[in-house]
Amino acid sequence: SAVDVTKHFVVRGAVGDSAVVRAVEDASVDLHAGRIVAVVGESGSGKTTLARLLARFYEPTSGEVRIEGAPASARSQRAYHQDVQLIFQDPFGSLNPVHRVRHNLDRALRIHDRRLSAAERRRRAVELLERVSLTPGEDFLEKFPHELSGGQRQRVVIARALAVGPKVLLGDEPISMLDVSIRLEMLNLLDRLRREEGLALLYITHDIASARYVCDDVVVMYAGQMIEGGPKDDVIARPAHPYTKLLVESSPDPDRVGTVSREELFDDAEALGEPPSLIEPPAGCRFHPRCPFAMERCRVEAPPRAELGGGRWARCWLHEAGRADEIGASTFSQ
Ligand code: SF4
Repeated sequence: SAVDVTKHFVVRGAVGDSAVVRAVEDASVDLHAGRIVAVVGESGSGKTTLARLLARFYEPTSGEVRIEGAPASARSQRAYHQDVQLIFQDPFGSLNPVHRVRHNLDRALRIHDRRLSAAERRRRAVELLERVSLTPGEDFLEKFPHELSGGQRQRVVIARALAVGPKVLLGDEPISMLDVSIRLEMLNLLDRLRREEGLALLYITHDIASARYVCDDVVVMYAGQMIEGGPKDDVIARPAHPYTKLLVESSPDPDRVGTVSREELFDDAEALGEPPSLIEPPAGCRFHPRCPFAMERCRVEAPPRAELGGGRWARCWLHEAGRADEIGASTFSQ
């Protein structure tokens, strides 16, 4: 889990000036065995930074990443990555192109258990390939990454992540660079891994339809902050934050799982203005420059997290003002 994690980056300009990028602020998320949490947001919302914090590729500026109730920092990186694996968006860049699939998996298997013999590692590699539906596994062992389709490569990447026996998989837009025709299959694979193997999954996406298809809970990020979360059906059917409402409305068709491009998805959103800079984010509620409900208070004070029951929460002053019903009644795309 992540508890109030914040990550600021200092970027230095050519003339010696510097600026702080507030990539993630006070983000908390809990992952549990057999459940999928989706983190939804547009690019620049901080969701990739969050995945990297949870994978310990970055250390938080403040806050803490915890595993099994203890600080992640108490474990070595190697021990941590036995339990937590990150899958990147780009299956092309994730595999070593000069090595055959067997070699790509072999390395992970050796790291996992140094006592395994070469024959045992080969047997396990076949097993791993078959777990991700590359069957028969033997047929894929000697192939190079360039001989595989994008979907097959991403399956190999997942097989390699599984090689170390993790409990948690973090998928950073794992289907967005794949052909539309195979995205659904990949989501079904993630779903099977959590159901049959009890993995905890974090699924990061810009596409609310794919989140709805595969996840149990959803968290919405905007401008580096988590602004709403809860059970997916509730959040999507009854958004408790104007930005979530905008996201749901901008999704062309909730049944078009995995086929919505970023451009299409944020077409309507662009009419309301660009997402804010993370260098100088707006004061108060970061969504206020785009929000049709913005009140005076929203411009100066950041809204606290309002607990709405049933695992729902949102950060929006409308809840305090007793005006939450207006969110559901609103429409952004007149
Ligand atoms: Fe809009 Fe104010 Fe709610 Fe922010 S806090 S989403 S500006 S109403």
